[in-house]
Amino acid sequence: MTEKPPVLLVEDEPHIALGLIYNLQEEGYRVSHVESGEEALRHLQHTPCALVILDLMLPGIDGLEVCRQIRARNTRLPILMLTARGNDEDRIAGLSEGADDYLSKPFNLKEFLLRVSALLRRSSWQPETERRNLVRFGENRVDLDTHQAETRSGQLQLTDLEMKMLNLFFDNPDKVLARGTLLETVWGMAPDTETRTLDNFIVRLRKYFEIDPSTPRHFLTVRGRGYRFIPDPR
Ligand code: CA
Repeated sequence: MTEKPPVLLVEDEPHIALGLIYNLQEEGYRVSHVESGEEALRHLQHTPCALVILDLMLPGIDGLEVCRQIRARNTRLPILMLTARGNDEDRIAGLSEGADDYLSKPFNLKEFLLRVSALLRRSSWQPETERRNLVRFGENRVDLDTHQAETRSGQLQLTDLEMKMLNLFFDNPDKVLARGTLLETVWGMAPDTETRTLDNFIVRLRKYFEIDPSTPRHFLTVRGRGYRFIPDPR
């Protein structure tokens, strides 16, 4: 069985939300539902998502601001905006903030589902089984595309610098990487720079990925030389 695309519905009106959830689930989508923009942004930080269905009028930050913030981090995630009927300004504002499509309330359910499936066809989301850029070591998984990691303590979003360093380790398994190489590749610093930043980064990676960060098995210190990444410790 193929994995169903995960869809996030951001809608504060319960009766509308219930109807949409029911119909989306009937079509086989996995639906997550939140009632505010703040919750939506939090949800997207740690949960894979193929499409956002975003109501414009929300308590707290409105749909436009949510749209703007999603776009600032992710240019590809499709967004379907739900606006009030006949409000051209809302529609134009939504599209200019990066929404891919819109529907005015009240809308025809069939049309809604057609638009959802059209947007999903353009979505970059793929079931995990079809994703190739997934690196596994120990109980950890790191997605090289989304920079999301799954560890025994949960999901987390890696920063660009963390990802740069991990990529360097993943490309050089079992090899000793000199401090200078790491500093230069990740931070662009001259190899002889004295800095604790690198060590602090390693401490952080161990906290994320090691079962016991004080006795690391994957990210090892090689005294006087640098660090070594071991994907499969014996
Ligand atoms: Ca609303």
